[in-house]
Amino acid sequence: MGERGRNGDFRLTLWICVAVVLALLLAVILPNVAHSLEIGGEIFLRLLKVIVVPLVFTSVLSGMLSLGDVSKLGRLGFTTLSYYLTTTVIAVLIGLAMVNTMQPGVGAVNPEFVAAHVPTGMGTPKEKITQSLQKSTGLTYQQVSNVLAELPSGESQTPGASLIARNLLLMLVPENLFVAAAEMQLLPIITFAILFGAVLTSMASQVVTLTAVVEQANAALMRFVLALMRVAPLGIFCLVAARFGKAVAEQRLGEELSQIGGYFLTVLLGLAIHSVIVLPLIYWWMIRKNPFAFLGQMSKALMTAFSTASSSATVPITLECAEHSGISKQSREFVIPLGSTVNMDGTALYEAVAAIFIAQAIGFDLTPFNQVVIAVTATLASIGAAGIPEAGLVTMLIVLNAVGLPVEYIGLILSIDWLVDRFRTTVNVWGDCVGAAVVDNTLR
Ligand code: ASP
Repeated sequence: MGERGRNGDFRLTLWICVAVVLALLLAVILPNVAHSLEIGGEIFLRLLKVIVVPLVFTSVLSGMLSLGDVSKLGRLGFTTLSYYLTTTVIAVLIGLAMVNTMQPGVGAVNPEFVAAHVPTGMGTPKEKITQSLQKSTGLTYQQVSNVLAELPSGESQTPGASLIARNLLLMLVPENLFVAAAEMQLLPIITFAILFGAVLTSMASQVVTLTAVVEQANAALMRFVLALMRVAPLGIFCLVAARFGKAVAEQRLGEELSQIGGYFLTVLLGLAIHSVIVLPLIYWWMIRKNPFAFLGQMSKALMTAFSTASSSATVPITLECAEHSGISKQSREFVIPLGSTVNMDGTALYEAVAAIFIAQAIGFDLTPFNQVVIAVTATLASIGAAGIPEAGLVTMLIVLNAVGLPVEYIGLILSIDWLVDRFRTTVNVWGDCVGAAVVDNTLR
């Protein structure tokens, strides 16, 4: 990047930071005005989301084409998946260590709070939890019940790692590309792009035009992202102001945090350790460069992640930041889209903390074996979670169910999940950025 490019980049980052601070101030001072900016945020979010599917498809395809030789895919794939798995397991272990030492649930939550937050009334626990999750996350009834359908009905049964692994495998394979695109399911699209890319590279001179179309479409979409970045400060301002303004206007955040603030703090501290110590150490260990300078280069993506609470919607900006930071085409275009749906360190950490917090709050005794089950299922559940707002909350039902914790107690953490989501999504995206840099360095 030239001097002018660097200056422009720095100015944009600065504007986004200013936008976040101003949005938070506005939300505190004039919450109703802030909340009314929702429409601006929604427009920005839609503009981001509209390019995600075509961009992910053409990026992965053109990343495959730039590999040139399919045999190189093995090494790239192995390095990437090893990185994803290692960092996710480290994140879960940090979560377990934090929640077991801080014990935020022990004696913290009073019975009235439990009564007010755990859905009761008519219907089975599954129906009640589906309705309340649907209401709080904005996911469709179908999406929530899809996860619930995977859970066995009796509390004594557990889904078992093999069932979860089976579902994950099936998620990888596209059944209908258009349905996947319409529902923004990135994983099957990525699988298809990898397979199709492999075919294209083996046909070389026969598909020159098609290859050129893919490259040009990808370049044009990235230009679109660049244009979108110019309005990013405004979009981020609206998104943050509207959501925080809503929370302040509702005047419930303080009360919720006074009850489950310990849980919030535990997740936050865990996320901070993972993102400010562990990931930078891995970066420094592998690349021998200043991780915090890299963090600065990625900050536009990180702030977009915070404001959208969606790794998938952030992919365009993450790709753009990675390109500017000099990460090679094949590494960034493979690691980032795949990571946005598979590599979720923040989500894995949060799921482990939340499950154990719930157990502590309701006085449910967890054996060491239960904790191992939580670690394994939280890892798998984070892999299975989509990169959309509060998807982790829904897949956490798998974790609760695996150790026999009543799923309706998820109600305890529901009200502040939108806030926790912003922090864990930021860490998810940061994990993808570090991953792209580390994989790139390893392949060189
Ligand atoms: N919102 C998160 C993401 O997009 C997923 C989650 O709910 O944990 O990365």
